[in-house]
Amino acid sequence: MAPRIGLKSLEKRRTLIDGVRSNLHVLAIGVKYFVNPRRMTLVYPKEYPRLSEGYRGFIILEKKKCISCAACARICPSAAMKMIRVMEPDPKHPEKPRMKQYPVINYQRCIFCGYCVDVCPTEALYHVNYHDVVYDNLAEMFWDLDTFQKEPEYKTALEGRPVRIMVHEELGLIKVPVGEGG
Ligand code: SF4
Ligand code: SF4
Repeated sequence: MAPRIGLKSLEKRRTLIDGVRSNLHVLAIGVKYFVNPRRMTLVYPKEYPRLSEGYRGFIILEKKKCISCAACARICPSAAMKMIRVMEPDPKHPEKPRMKQYPVINYQRCIFCGYCVDVCPTEALYHVNYHDVVYDNLAEMFWDLDTFQKEPEYKTALEGRPVRIMVHEELGLIKVPVGEGG
């Protein structure tokens, strides 16, 4: 008489077969990409993405355009932007200094949402199209009024090769080298 296989052993056998099948599938994917690598990984900083104009990177203040309305600081969802008071010469009465308010930014808190840039009524704030700036310590991430008016030095990937990330119909995301002006 043939031995009877219980339900529990059948279940165990099925689980084992499923496990082996899944592992073989994963191994097959690994072999496929080993033989024909279509990687999207950027070898940073030897390669770096050339970001488009309009990318929401670091934010810069054009102080002469600022009317001190504080809309940028009020709308900031992460309390990264705040207004500070500054005494400066009044163009109409140079002998009398006047008090003005300008925004400053704390990049420890900024989430690059761009609300402050969008809400500014005079376009006194703008984005630059990069965001990989290296800081030596957290204090450097707080920009005072002077720092906020200068575009940050693009310190990383200077020696690297710029690439653009594109969508290919068959391959999906691919990287394409671009010239310095591209
Ligand atoms: S980009 Fe967003 S988070 Fe950053 S300072 Fe502007 S409003 Fe605040
Ligand atoms: S929203 Fe624009 S104009 Fe108003 S305080 Fe901010 S930077 Fe200045």
